[in-house]
Amino acid sequence: MATAHRATLTFLGAAGTVTGSKFLLNLGERRVLVDAGMFQGEKKWRLKNWEDFPVKPSAIGDVLLTHAHMDHVGYLPALVRQGFRGTVWMTDATRPLVEIVLRDAAHIQENEAEEANEGGYSKHKPALPLYTTEDVERTLPLMRTVPYDEPVDLGDGITAEWARAGHILGSASIVVRYGTAGVLFSGDLGRHDHPVLKPRDNTPPPAPFVVMESTYGDREHPDADGPEHEPMAAAIRRTIARGGSVLIPAFAIDRTELVLKMLTSMRREGRIPEVPVVVNSPMALKALDAYRSQTDELRPGIRLEDFADIPLLREARTKEESMELTDPAKPIGPSIIVSSSGMGTGGRVVHHLAAMLPDKRNAVILTGYQAVGTRGRQLLDGEKQLKMFGRYVPVRAEIVQDREFSVHGDASDLIDWVAAVTPRPQTVFLVHGEDASAAALAERIQGELGLTVVVPRHAEVVSLEPGAGYGFEVVEPGQSESELVEAAARADEVDSTWLRGDGTKGRLPAPAPDAGGAPAAPVAAAPVVAAPVAAAPVVAAPVAAAPVAVPAARGAAPGGERYRCIVGPDGTDFYRRVSAALDEGYQLHGAPTMTFDGTQVIVAQAVIWPG
Ligand SMILES: [Zn+2]
Repeated sequence: MATAHRATLTFLGAAGTVTGSKFLLNLGERRVLVDAGMFQGEKKWRLKNWEDFPVKPSAIGDVLLTHAHMDHVGYLPALVRQGFRGTVWMTDATRPLVEIVLRDAAHIQENEAEEANEGGYSKHKPALPLYTTEDVERTLPLMRTVPYDEPVDLGDGITAEWARAGHILGSASIVVRYGTAGVLFSGDLGRHDHPVLKPRDNTPPPAPFVVMESTYGDREHPDADGPEHEPMAAAIRRTIARGGSVLIPAFAIDRTELVLKMLTSMRREGRIPEVPVVVNSPMALKALDAYRSQTDELRPGIRLEDFADIPLLREARTKEESMELTDPAKPIGPSIIVSSSGMGTGGRVVHHLAAMLPDKRNAVILTGYQAVGTRGRQLLDGEKQLKMFGRYVPVRAEIVQDREFSVHGDASDLIDWVAAVTPRPQTVFLVHGEDASAAALAERIQGELGLTVVVPRHAEVVSLEPGAGYGFEVVEPGQSESELVEAAARADEVDSTWLRGDGTKGRLPAPAPDAGGAPAAPVAAAPVVAAPVAAAPVVAAPVAAAPVAVPAARGAAPGGERYRCIVGPDGTDFYRRVSAALDEGYQLHGAPTMTFDGTQVIVAQAVIWPG
């Protein structure tokens, strides 16, 4: 059943969770990965960073990056460590940021492993970094840059095009096309207006399938009444007045730049007192340089001096400068400290949290999305102690959240973006959102735009063949067509148990009677009908079964079996068993479901005896 335009998509990250964006495209014999993000937050996801990549990384030819955030690029060196040697494509402005982010990530991991080993609190002996600076050095030469809005030829009939996403410097949505198949990845989408960058492209390039983020799918950003960021200014005023200091955890990329720009204007307007502002994040300082140097990407009217025009600005670049800041013997007095990471998951901000949280005069101002399982989220949830460096630190400082910094679009921003995809996509897959956000956005897109919306599960596989003819055409990720033929020949040797997408174990039924080696019958696909709204993660491959010409039912069902579920590794043998059932007089019942068991695609098709 090999066809020239076999195309599938496997959700290897940001499905069922907000981090770890990784989308694997199987396009004929080629494998393309869109984003290579690190899982962050909850432990069950973080542990996935340590598993072998489900597909041999050496078989992946290209990685396409939407933008430089850790949850979209942080896994790259791990991929290289496991054998990836292909090309990593990204926009010009993303390139320097990726380098900064990856070097920092390796550095953090090396430090954490070292500290854990010295402190003896790691469960792993010895604690190891996921990847090292050396791995990053081997990754950088693989990177190539592309311009916005120009299709890039990846060979073998595959093209990719990057469109501005207005999220952070260099960010993009990417459309990948292959024959009649095509899929548009939103990447992370900014609001209609970014405070310092050129706005996003409001007419995204069309494709029959859309993979879209849903971070804020269940909420609208508040319109600030009164002066901008007043809750933050007020928190700074009262903290300084009571003799405390303010800690602002901020993502080094984009967020720190926006925080400094805001502090600059607050100072100019006299809304906050003149106290030292410390940027303790070498990565943020480098990113600030990148923003200042990419003047083509800045919105008109932004001047470089708007970024950090603060008289008492102090930059902590070295480790010694950083350690001095939390040394009780060298108090710097009331001040504002901006440090990363933004969710308190690692980096220098953790040292500041440990030093500042126990004092009730201090305040922590959270400036962005705080994923489940992060220290930032624990603070928002009112936890009374946080674990850091193997010990518990009491939380007495004031915790404030400034929601105005978000560079993720809210629900209306997201709807406007997908509504502009013309012609209308056949299916929209919602990723990169917690369950409630994705479900709420699915309902709105379905209700307001009438589109088919699916919230895929982790490791789910879907076909990307639009319209008719994409019935069961699914390859096993990690296998070329020739490998597939081989696998089909070995199908009987395949382990008969597999793990379903929901974590339960399944067992293959006994093979159906052999149809005498007859070629598999092609199964026609009908025009796709609107699937029910996914209120929960659903397995809903966009594959619709059509009425198929079958012999009329001949009396009682064979063996009295009115209903049969044919399950097996995708391949010739599976199609043969479905064909055999149809020859017996069974009819297809519903669409096939596809599950990725970590190694291969498992397909299930129910058949029913008519009458
Ligand atoms: Zn992002």
